[in-house]
Amino acid sequence: MNALVTEPGVPHSTRVEDVPAPDPAAGEVLLRVLEVGVCGTDREIVHGLFGVAPDDSRSLVLGHESLALVEQDGPGFSRGDLVTATVRRSCGHCLACGEGSPDSCLTGDYSERGITRLDGFARELVAEDPTQLVAIPRSLGRLGVLAEPTSICARALRHVDAIGGRQPWQPQRALVLGAGAIGTLSTFLLRLRGLEVWTASREPAGDPRADLVELCGARYVSTGDDELGDLRAETGGFDIVVEAAGNVQLMADSLGLLRRSGVACLLGIDGREGRASIDAHVLAVDTVLENRVLFGSVNAERRDWLDGVAALEQARTRWPGALEGLIGLRVPLDRFADALAYGGGKATLLLDA
Ligand code: BGC
Repeated sequence: MNALVTEPGVPHSTRVEDVPAPDPAAGEVLLRVLEVGVCGTDREIVHGLFGVAPDDSRSLVLGHESLALVEQDGPGFSRGDLVTATVRRSCGHCLACGEGSPDSCLTGDYSERGITRLDGFARELVAEDPTQLVAIPRSLGRLGVLAEPTSICARALRHVDAIGGRQPWQPQRALVLGAGAIGTLSTFLLRLRGLEVWTASREPAGDPRADLVELCGARYVSTGDDELGDLRAETGGFDIVVEAAGNVQLMADSLGLLRRSGVACLLGIDGREGRASIDAHVLAVDTVLENRVLFGSVNAERRDWLDGVAALEQARTRWPGALEGLIGLRVPLDRFADALAYGGGKATLLLDA
């Protein structure tokens, strides 16, 4: 069967390859993969900058954003059910993983489907542990491929709530930096919570990404036209900032965009070497005197997957066409280069094409 494989650490080694069909172990469920989403992490792996192959192999099957059909009845699932599966798996020896939170693993010895030591889902059939499956409602259909990136946003906002909620707090205004898949999904989740949301990105007003942001009632700000500092002055600052542009300077600047008790969450990655600068007064005076916080968030717990799927279902009914519009490119597996090069919202690879 066909699979998208790469040799971690070796650029230009990504290819579609014929691999053996899986032989499910006792208790595992056989899945027929329909679609996998592609993200910045996949790009990093393909460029040889990230990723680890399974112990017994030089190559890694890519794909961690999955949508699949259950192929045979199994514990808790029936043939034909739509599912996705978690990405990160327990390290087996830390408190967080022991408590079901591998997203907060304390050792870093975790494995991740399609990223670190575990083959991913960019292949026709996969055998999976049923406890790692997450049901996708029929009504969501192929939009279920957005469950993984949405779980990342749901986790981030759960942590924003926990951090902000450590003291009396009434978040009203949020700013999302970046209008890629994570930025747009974060915008949707914040709007579903009833916050006033501004989403800032490089694209000019009128770009399809700006339209999607506005469809859910958020305001789009083109950073080509407006200085973020002006936006802070006009609005009075934000209770929540989500950095989803993957730009180190924006990450540093996000502290200065907050107002009192504000929380900034970093979701992007910027792997470039170098330094960012930060306004001394913002760091050494405002952050202290106004109880501001800047933190990073990765991966997701099972409850975030469930919350994410529920949020997708709400977004689908509340803003018809918005989630469909976010998936800008769907191509068969052999067009993986086009999916990886796609610069819009979300690109996916179709395994059943
Ligand atoms: C994935 C996460 C993963 C992280 C680090 C992200 O692209 O969405 O599930 O934990 O990469 O490997």
